[in-house]
Amino acid sequence: MPGTDLELPALKFPFQDSPRPGELIEITPDVRWLRLPMPFGLDHVNLYLVRVEAGWVIVDTGLDSPETRDIWEGIFSGPMQGEPMAGVLSTHFHVDHCGLAGYLTERRRLPLLMSYREYFTMRGWPGDLAEVPWQHAEFYRKGGCGEEVARIGRLMFNFAKLLSPPPPSFLCLRDGEPLPVFGGAWRIIMGEGHSPEQAMLFSADDAILISGDQLLPTITTNVSVSVINPEDDPLGRWFASLDRLAELPADILVLPAHGAPFYGIKTRVAELRAHHEEQLQVVLDLCATRPASLFEITQAMFPYPSTDFDQILAIGESLAHIRYLVSHGRLECSPDKSGVLYYRGGSGDLSV
Ligand SMILES: [Zn+2]
Repeated sequence: MPGTDLELPALKFPFQDSPRPGELIEITPDVRWLRLPMPFGLDHVNLYLVRVEAGWVIVDTGLDSPETRDIWEGIFSGPMQGEPMAGVLSTHFHVDHCGLAGYLTERRRLPLLMSYREYFTMRGWPGDLAEVPWQHAEFYRKGGCGEEVARIGRLMFNFAKLLSPPPPSFLCLRDGEPLPVFGGAWRIIMGEGHSPEQAMLFSADDAILISGDQLLPTITTNVSVSVINPEDDPLGRWFASLDRLAELPADILVLPAHGAPFYGIKTRVAELRAHHEEQLQVVLDLCATRPASLFEITQAMFPYPSTDFDQILAIGESLAHIRYLVSHGRLECSPDKSGVLYYRGGSGDLSV
């Protein structure tokens, strides 16, 4: 695996300020940036408006709450008053990106643009779970995690109240193609690893990439094996997506879903690859000394999760790294007498 090129330039952030709730910042005459609040450790999500011939397409929506609905209404009656709206595009199914998709498409009678897998994941994601399903309990038990972890694992499904009822139809986004119906300069680039089929928007004319959660400037995107799809290998697909982003021109402006717009796509791709390679090495080093369970590996990779939700994300992300190493023949897996899976092997350097 290639290492980080330390000669790459530092990221540059061309905007001094970020938009306050309800305010728009002009990125170009055809691209505007806005922000909505979130009640989490991650306290905001960036949204963008891009102009196509038919009007403005809203790119990501924010999660659904009375406050975010009010902010959108203020935008429609304020800075966007009289402007034609053409559609709503959600990059992926997480509620900060599609929570208001149903509300906005209904309120303004607009089409929803989304990839096939994201649309149906949004529609099919289980609502709040009253009990731990046996499949989920088994997932955590095999990981050596204990019943309390399985109980808090239900937090992954606790988002129904932040999602307005999804619209009953959508315009399907496809990799490499322009926006359906509207056409224009924007092309879809699909990313994987964080969610099933995340849509990014790239305009060579504007030298801009709207990256969703696939490329963030300061935090690393969660790449997790979900209890819903427990044999998945999302990290392999995440690396493949990073490789595709590395092929884009070096001087484009990246508009992320969290944090500030930045220049330096090649640097950031290299940093993210290096981050995951370091994490893979942590797993290899631990499993070279003794067999370790998922729970033990998670404690080595993420020793200080600050919330229950972070702990569940950490378990999923640890398993993503384990699964990648197993699929590349770097770790072996076998159960103990009680059925808990232990991983062993892993001596040596990741790059060997
Ligand atoms: Zn996301």
